Amino acid sequence: MKIVRLSTYHAAPRWLFLKVETDEGITGWGEPVIEGRAQTVEAAVHELSDYLIGQDPSRINDLWQTLYRGGFYRGGAVLMSAIAGIDQALWDIKGKALGVPVYELLGGKVRDRMKTYRWVGGDRPADIIAQIHELKALGFDTFKFNGTEELRLIDNAAAIDAAVAKVAEIRGAFANDVSFGIDFHGRVSVPMARVLLRELEPYRPLFVEEPVLPEQSEYYRRLADSTSIPLAAGERMYSRFEFKQVLADGGLSILQPDLSHAGGITECFKIAAMAEAYDVGFAPHCPLGPVALAACLQVDFVAHNAVLQEQSIGIHYNNGADLLDYVLNKEDFRCDNGDIAALPKPGLGVEMDEQRLLEASRHPPAWRNPLWRHADGSIAEW
Ligand SMILES: [Mg+2]
Repeated sequence: MKIVRLSTYHAAPRWLFLKVETDEGITGWGEPVIEGRAQTVEAAVHELSDYLIGQDPSRINDLWQTLYRGGFYRGGAVLMSAIAGIDQALWDIKGKALGVPVYELLGGKVRDRMKTYRWVGGDRPADIIAQIHELKALGFDTFKFNGTEELRLIDNAAAIDAAVAKVAEIRGAFANDVSFGIDFHGRVSVPMARVLLRELEPYRPLFVEEPVLPEQSEYYRRLADSTSIPLAAGERMYSRFEFKQVLADGGLSILQPDLSHAGGITECFKIAAMAEAYDVGFAPHCPLGPVALAACLQVDFVAHNAVLQEQSIGIHYNNGADLLDYVLNKEDFRCDNGDIAALPKPGLGVEMDEQRLLEASRHPPAWRNPLWRHADGSIAEW
């Protein structure tokens, strides 16, 4: 079998899909994207296609190494996201060629169901209580929300109280009937993270995510020493070679690589195994589309330390299309009490509605993340 064509589809809300075709008619799908930089990754994918056209798609490991090492310069969000989507498509082809889901190729399932959680509250946390009530009625009991809006490097008691009051209100309204993670989203400085972690500890969140920016990862260990709240991070880390340092340093309790940013299934399967060796959980980041989610689930079902799966149904970014709009086998993605079963179809387990995707890609989105500024006019982390 040989790879003959790579086609990309840039479609609402902010997704990029890749179709890899072979001379035997088997087609694989991937989702190589950076939110807000889809066209940059799209260009990288097409540039990398020089290494793929005419090659045997079954040699995923060799193609991965070729894409990673073959260009001398390597790593980073753009290149690793391009490799990620290509890698997903190659696994999809291999599974379809052999007639089995990818998790069978990775050694078979270690669990029957994977727990997922839902986003509530949006960018500027609001209406969280009402949204949790709605989603609880659908069976979900685990949620995530943003911890703060803009926060200054050193901020005041009012800002701290606002962040804490929201969490206290949720715990007060639902007691232990719900669990939640709090995403600091890299908006919080090291000094304010120290303060907030201490203040939030009584409300026992499942985890605090990106307690500080990945550029400040040397503080994970020291922050973890100051709190009993498990710390999670990894959506802006792109390979084993970045994760090895934070694992060796200690401090994180959950790694959250993104299967569309960190080299795909091939790389994240290995990152999960590295985390397991350190007694660290694995909870793939996935505010993206259905192919990315399917790829995450393939690894969740073979990783003993997979604890939670993010998914984007109804997420505040999904304007113009929602998670399953381009999917034909929607029923396979059904959540029962927040749990999703292993996708039964061969390959990644997602059947794309190519016609609908083609139509949507005629009006590609221009999604950019919000640009926030502090009251004094300086740029704030979003
Ligand atoms: Mg996050």
